[in-house]
Amino acid sequence: MARLRIAIIGLGKIARDQHLPVIASSTVFELVAVVSPKATVESGVRAFRDHQEMLRQIELDAVAICTPPAVRHMIARDCLERGLHVLLEKPPAASIGEVADLEALSRRNGRSLFTTWHAQFNDSVLEAARLVADQGLEAMRIDWLEDVEKWHPGQQWIWEPGGFGVFDAGINALSIATAISPAKLLLRQARFSMHPTGQEPIAANLALAAAGVKGPIDVILDWRHKGEERWTIDIRTRAHTRLLLSDGGGTLRIDDQPPIRSGQGEYHAIYDKFARLIKEGHSLIDGEPLRLVADAFLLARRDQG
Ligand code: NAP
Repeated sequence: MARLRIAIIGLGKIARDQHLPVIASSTVFELVAVVSPKATVESGVRAFRDHQEMLRQIELDAVAICTPPAVRHMIARDCLERGLHVLLEKPPAASIGEVADLEALSRRNGRSLFTTWHAQFNDSVLEAARLVADQGLEAMRIDWLEDVEKWHPGQQWIWEPGGFGVFDAGINALSIATAISPAKLLLRQARFSMHPTGQEPIAANLALAAAGVKGPIDVILDWRHKGEERWTIDIRTRAHTRLLLSDGGGTLRIDDQPPIRSGQGEYHAIYDKFARLIKEGHSLIDGEPLRLVADAFLLARRDQG
């Protein structure tokens, strides 16, 4: 059977690290074009400077949109209007309203829309969610500490409105938390340390709550951290089991047992899921991690850096 013709829009770090190699090994998708303002010809496929030029010139079945979030909504809209299936990198858009608009448009046009949260596709995260569903959630503590200069060199867009600042990484932790918590997570308090010259926070502390969870649900996000990064989620179940997710959700330690490491990789699982959604005529739209970030921006006390 012919493979689905896909284009990547936004050929930056994540597109090169993950999307290009995973599509290259796919038996379902065939990369036919890339779009980026400074794009050069990429392994024999057509390269465009702008997505509208691409939509005018070639036939496609699907796109993967890997741009910064602020421009994603209009691009996704144009692609859905052209009848394409759309995969969105995280976060799916820059606002809750934009996600709702894309959801309505995908339904109207009968196309699959997939809001990916890559960290949710770790086997370790799925296992932790299964154990919490069985045993109940008592408390959770998230530490997402990294050096922004190491992980985001030259990415000025993260400090602009719609760039998310420290939540560009922290939303991955929140996507794991929303996948694991049996009840809806609510934001109770937030405190931001703002970037000294940018528009977005460089660090944030959040206090969350969920019905039936007696202990604290605390979130510490900090991009000023030097040395080895720490991406951990420490969970206590009501049956007194300790679940420690580390490596951004890639590893799970249950009490003192040997660690369980995730298998084939998040992005293979993401493209398998996208293929299934298209085949079955479904969408998967999850705005919960973005909703928590939006609530933090509504409620936060802000300290100037
Ligand atoms: P990046 O390296 O800055 O790449 C973004 C790319 O989008 C750049 O190549 C940029 O092109 C392109 N772009 C900007 N505006 C565009 C437009 N209007 N049309 C087409 N292309 C456009 O950023 P990134 O780290 O890959 O992150 C992109 C998204 O993926 C973010 O939402 C991020 O949260 C998510 N993500 C990143 C990682 C990671 O490890 N980096 C992991 C998972 C998810 P120019 O360079 O020509 O401006």
